[in-house]
Amino acid sequence: MFADLHSPLQQLKDSHLSQLWIKRDDLIDPYISGNKWRKLKYILKDATAKKKNHLVTFGGAYSNHLVATASAAARSGLKATAFVRGEKVNNEMLVLCSLYGMELIFTDRETYKDKKACYVKYYGQDPDSYFIDEGGASAEAVLGCAELITELPADTAHLFCAAGTGTTAAGLLQGIQKAGLKTKLHVIPVLKGGEFIREEIGKYTEITDQLILHTAYHFGGYAKTKPELLNFMKNFVARQGILIDPVYTAKMFFALDDLAEQSYFGTEEKIVALHTGGLLGIMGMKDKFD
Ligand SMILES: *Cc1c(COP(=O)(O)O)cnc(C)c1O
Repeated sequence: MFADLHSPLQQLKDSHLSQLWIKRDDLIDPYISGNKWRKLKYILKDATAKKKNHLVTFGGAYSNHLVATASAAARSGLKATAFVRGEKVNNEMLVLCSLYGMELIFTDRETYKDKKACYVKYYGQDPDSYFIDEGGASAEAVLGCAELITELPADTAHLFCAAGTGTTAAGLLQGIQKAGLKTKLHVIPVLKGGEFIREEIGKYTEITDQLILHTAYHFGGYAKTKPELLNFMKNFVARQGILIDPVYTAKMFFALDDLAEQSYFGTEEKIVALHTGGLLGIMGMKDKFD
């Protein structure tokens, strides 16, 4: 299931930049989309090697990671359980998880904070269970994301990605370092106060000046938006014919566009924007984006 498939690299039309490319990880799979596929690849390999047949993970009620884990488990013939943050709710994302066989345990926010304790309480004695942190955050996930770098042109001057937990960004930076590239990694946190991403990345790899955080493009926080962002997204989709989402990828492309307008890049520099996928993630959020 996690075969070595390389997602396409496609050129974008841009009035400022002649060398703007998009890495289409969104095309990898509709359910185990983009970076979630890369993050789960080595996690599932590790679980399988350890003969574990039950994946236990964590996420909010709109989590792309939960849908990805439920889908990956179903396709691999594994059981899956998720601790879902907050009181019991229902939405399309969670319905998908349930239909694909994932058991959902709604967990109040206080209890949820200590994920290891939740795991131990329910599954500590179960030899078949395998712990996967929220968003898949792990050394295995970092390794999977680092691999992406081997699929990029070595003369990529700038690589852009959106960040939630920062695990994907950590993998990309690690991959850049392993390959000895000069590529600068531009990270756009979609949460408010995105400086924490630097610390998160530091858990997995050395922070160098190749890492550039752009913390001003969160539009109010996670899954928050402004008319300016939605207008930008509509124009982007109309112009490029590529679908993006308002939670992650629209914020990244907005940042890139904004920087380009300020002549941040050299016109001939090769820029790659990573499309991390996650188009389903808006399901259940209709009140936020109408
Ligand atoms: C989960 C997700 C991210 C964030 O990945 P992190 O590794 O948590 O930073 C970015 N883009 C999309 C589309 C996602 O679903």
